[in-house]
Amino acid sequence: MTMLPPPSPKKLGLVIDLDICVGCHACAVACKEWNDGGEFGPLPDENPYGAEPLGVWFNRVHSYEVEPTEKDKPAMTVHFPRSCLHCETPDCVTVCPTGASYKRAEDGIVLVDEDKCIGCKLCSWACPYGAREYSEVRGVMQKCTLCVDRIYNESFEEIDRQPACVMACPTRARHFGDLGDADSAVSKLVAERGGYDLMPEMGYKPVNKYLPPRPRRDGCGSAPKPVQDEKVDFSTASPLLRWIDKVLSR
Ligand code: SF4
Ligand code: SF4
Repeated sequence: MTMLPPPSPKKLGLVIDLDICVGCHACAVACKEWNDGGEFGPLPDENPYGAEPLGVWFNRVHSYEVEPTEKDKPAMTVHFPRSCLHCETPDCVTVCPTGASYKRAEDGIVLVDEDKCIGCKLCSWACPYGAREYSEVRGVMQKCTLCVDRIYNESFEEIDRQPACVMACPTRARHFGDLGDADSAVSKLVAERGGYDLMPEMGYKPVNKYLPPRPRRDGCGSAPKPVQDEKVDFSTASPLLRWIDKVLSR
């Protein structure tokens, strides 16, 4: 069992805008490129050109067709980038028997110390978001680091001290900042756009937030309401929340 630190005032995380993500995978590729050669790499691939390629990706983008809410309206395509949400109270840390999984007290980033990881996979069972990536090649658990080796890197210009995925996104669907500071640009964006937590009923308190798609001019889709309740009835939730729940429950 690994202890969590007390909640930090600083909560670094991502805000991902589902309204303007075009599913180009630039964020996933930039993440793979940066982290493969960095402090938290390599990110091995198995059978990369075969029929069933496998590999470690800290960030994956899934595309879905969301059923229309009204009859005769077209379906809506939503692209959903998925990576660690750097939760406030995640069981992925507390289940770790060696202390390899840990949450940083100073900024809330959740990391894995690969030298301590024994590859038992308990953390991946405890993560309801499917954000942990086990490397079969290396026998250790890996995951998004929020590019901790970029964001504090003083050899970079200030403007470049952001996660590689944020820098690469051509539509600016990804934003990085301190979600513990109500006056930060990311917190204001979340407040303005009704950003919400994924699966709040799990009680993990994810730091990363998602911004809902806006209603389309042709009437298809509808912006789901932010979910604040502890318990969510997904049978009556908006189509978007229903597919998120279905995807993450796999
Ligand atoms: Fe842990 Fe998963 Fe939350 Fe990341 S998203 S902190 S891996 S529970
Ligand atoms: Fe979406 Fe931006 Fe990632 Fe492309 S780079 S898939 S637009 S979040």
